[in-house]
Amino acid sequence: MVIYVDIDETICNTPKDRDYSKSKPIRDNIEKVNDLFDFGYTIVYWTARGSGSGKDYSKLTERQLKKWKVKYTELKLGKPMYDLFICDKAINSVDFFTNRSRSPARRHEIY
Ligand SMILES: [Mg+2]
Repeated sequence: MVIYVDIDETICNTPKDRDYSKSKPIRDNIEKVNDLFDFGYTIVYWTARGSGSGKDYSKLTERQLKKWKVKYTELKLGKPMYDLFICDKAINSVDFFTNRSRSPARRHEIY
């Protein structure tokens, strides 16, 4: 199973001015996704960092994921900017991390 995971406001909190260098990791959320990685899921982090500005945040983001001990298969930038994402396969991150929706994590009793 391939799981795409957002970064900002999903596994870290980033200031409103979008200074990504000041993002703070959300340890519990990182741990839960790491558990999915350990169970054998393909974890792809997908971020819109730089999609608006054209700035390349790949190195900064790679450094942060390493520092925060994030386990993943692949990091992808270039996620489009949007205000709402409607998709039958999407789970809101708050619901996912608070176990209010069906998710593969439940099957493995991660929570
Ligand atoms: Mg986000």
